[in-house]
Formats: sequence, structure tokens, C-alpha cells
Amino acid sequence: MPAKDLEQIVNLAKRRGFAFPSAEIYGGFRSSYDYGPLGALMLRNVKDAWVRAVVQMRSDVVLIDAAILNPPQTFEASGHLANFSDPLVDCTVCKRRFRADQLEQRDCPEKMKGCQFTEARAFNLMFKTHAGPIEGAGTEVYLRPETAQGMFVNFANVLATSRKKPPFGIAQVGKSFRNEITPGNFIFRTREFEQMELEFFVPPAEGPQWYDYWKRERLEWYVSHGIPREMLRLREHAADELSHYSAGTCDIEFLFPWGWGELEGIAQRTDYDLTQHAKHSGQRLDYFDQATNERYVPYVVEPAAGVNRTMAAFLLAAYDEDIVNDEPRTVLRLHPRIAPYQVAVLPLSKKDTLTPLAEEVYSSLAKRYMCDYDETQAIGRRYRRQDEIGTPVCITIDFDSLTDHAVTVRDRDTTVQERVPLASLEAHLAARFGF
Ligand code: ATP
Repeated sequence: MPAKDLEQIVNLAKRRGFAFPSAEIYGGFRSSYDYGPLGALMLRNVKDAWVRAVVQMRSDVVLIDAAILNPPQTFEASGHLANFSDPLVDCTVCKRRFRADQLEQRDCPEKMKGCQFTEARAFNLMFKTHAGPIEGAGTEVYLRPETAQGMFVNFANVLATSRKKPPFGIAQVGKSFRNEITPGNFIFRTREFEQMELEFFVPPAEGPQWYDYWKRERLEWYVSHGIPREMLRLREHAADELSHYSAGTCDIEFLFPWGWGELEGIAQRTDYDLTQHAKHSGQRLDYFDQATNERYVPYVVEPAAGVNRTMAAFLLAAYDEDIVNDEPRTVLRLHPRIAPYQVAVLPLSKKDTLTPLAEEVYSSLAKRYMCDYDETQAIGRRYRRQDEIGTPVCITIDFDSLTDHAVTVRDRDTTVQERVPLASLEAHLAARFGF
């Protein structure tokens, strides 16, 4: 059974070192989180799994890493300076601020009595700062609110250097910043977060077919990395929900404990972005097809996902409680590519006689997998700890290992143990994990 309550995950995350409230020694900082030793590994695994599927396993997508600080011109062209805002209302009684589109019938979300709301105003979500030592006109810069603009402003550079032609994609993984009015629900909505975005450039006539293709492809990615299909759905946006650039958007939604929530948006951005940047920069941002002698501005299909939200969804879906040997246990049934550690190496006792072999096993497996090494406490408790952090396999080195050159491999999900010769351990793990 997946987690029913967000608190189950928030507590586990804190207790085991996935995510801590940011700057906790100062009382925490405004819905920000710092990722601990396990969270940092898991975030990296989410990003690696995405890059593997979207870039590595294909020949038509390249990866870039663009700047976070951007000049105003970028966002003038993209429309973010004019349009990237949420409607905001102030309460004249309690002095708090709410998003107008999240208020139901103008009722106070905190259930306060006597709240009086102002008319809604547009509140721009971009963080602005200054570059250089002197504040003033011409020094303004913005922290990017999405990674996408990096792909559009580099379109010509990538086209000239990568030998790709439409249909082809430019992908990027990195931090984005939005001055969200109502951050919350743990790492679901924060002001600083990471995105995994792909801009897929296609001949205009092929827009709709690639839109369908990416919807299917991206949904399957979540399923193949362990999220049950019934916890996911595709939701097509109604016409009045569409962003200013979109000719069609579909969200991949996950069944969070509080209801369906967006994990990823897939949008048909048409030629809006390239045309806008061409107009504002005076540069040519199009493609000349030598085969047909035609010049055209490619259409864009954009799957845009959030790393942190996806991590939350993986944790919630993987969470389970069961009974093993008459004792309740908590287990994270994470996919081996997503789990912080794939393997835990556990010498049965701390005795010096076992240490050299255990270290040898650790160093050889660590070349291929992220491994944990733990030699303290009773073995049962160590298994439980690994179950709770989602490690798919524990390898125990015992005194027999010194003579039979074999180890015990314990499976997280079934708790079944089997004896595997050291000589075939790597092949055994590769067969289990599929990598
Ligand atoms: P929402 O409607 O939830 O604010 P959005 O539609 O504005 O999201 P997009 O602009 O489509 O989001 O961004 C793509 C993805 O980036 C989202 O699906 C989400 O996973 C992630 N994302 C966006 N804003 C945040 C945030 N404040 N915190 C964490 N992740 C975010």
C-alpha cells in the first residue's frame, strides 16, 4: 500500500536523511529543503534515469547546461515579464496573501473568520537581482523560472554544432526559481527546485503526432521506474487553462495523498518561442531543409518535469508497511535505478576476520553500484534499516564466506535469502537489476 499520508514520507525523509528543512538550526527557511546523504543520491538517480531515457538511449536528443542568471531580454521575448504571474489577493484583516485561483468561493483557506479579500492583482513569479556592484538600470538579471529558455536561445548554436536536424531535441536538467505565493506540501512546491525539460523541434506538420508520442513515452517512463499505472493519469488542459504560448497541454498527474497533482506538463509550444527570440534578438532562428529547399521555423513539443516532485511521487508510491517474522516493518519498494543505494554490504560481525573480505566485496561492487557499508548492530536491525531506505539487496558476509567463498544475498521485497558464490556475484546482481 502506498503512503496514505504525506507525514509518513516527511518523517521518514527527516529520520533517515533524505530531506531536512533548510537551515533547520535557524528554525527552517520558508518551505525550503536541504537534501541529505540519501536524498542527494536519490535526486541524482531521478535525473540520471531521465537523461538515460531522454538523451542516452536516443540518437535524436542532445543535452545542454545553460546559465541560471539571465538578462531581461530573454524574458521580455519569452513573455515571462508580461505574463508569468499568479493572481493574488490580500486579506485586509489578517494581512496574509493567497492565490485567487486557489480560494474556494473566497473562503479563507486557513479557516480564519472575517477575512476580507482585495481584488486580485497579478504577481510576477520571477526572482530579480542585480549583477555587478552597482544597482540600477542595466544591471537587472533574473533567475530563470524554467530551464526551457536556455534551449531556445541556444537553438542556432546547437544546430550549428551538433549536426542534428528536425525532428530533434535539446534537453536540460537544472535549477529553476519561482517566487511561489503558496509553497508547500513538502517538496511538491518550493521556490527553488529542479526541472528536467526537453524541447523537441519538429517540422510544423508533425507537431500533433510528436505531441502524442511524448505523452505516451513520458507516461511509460514513470511506470517503468516503479509507479503503479493506476496512480498516474494524463489530463488534457481546457482552452482557458492554456499558457500564453500553448496550442495544447497535457499534464501527467500523480495521485498524491491530497489528490491528483501535476508531475509533468507536455506542451505544444508551436513556433512561439523561436519566433519571439528571433524577433527580439534580430537573429535568424529557423531551419533550412536542403532536401526540400525549404526554410521553416520548427514547432516545439515540450515535456517538462520536476525532479523534486518526481522524487516525492517515487517515495509515496514505494512506501509500504508489512509484517515480517511477526514484526511490523516499513519498506520503500523503490526501483533499483531510483533507490539511493542498490546494494548494502553487511559483514555479519565487526570481527577483524571478516573485514578484509567485506571490504573487498564492497570495493568491487562499488565500481558499478552505489553501495552502503554497515557493520554495527544486529543483522536484523541492519536489514530493517536498509528496507526503510529502499536498498533492493543486502549482501551478508559471514564466517562461512571465508571458506565457501559465497555470500548471502537478501531481497528487500520478499526478504528471501540465497547463497551466491562470490565468483558469480556481479553477474547475479546484473541479472536481478537488469543493469
Ligand atoms: P503548477 O501548476 O503546479 O504550479 P506549472 O504548470 O506551473 O506547475 P510547469 O511550468 O509546467 O509547472 O513546470 C514543469 C514542472 O516543473 C512541473 O510539472 C513540476 O513538476 C515542476 N515545478 C514547477 N513549479 C514547481 C515548484 N514551485 N516546485 C517544485 N516543482 C515545480
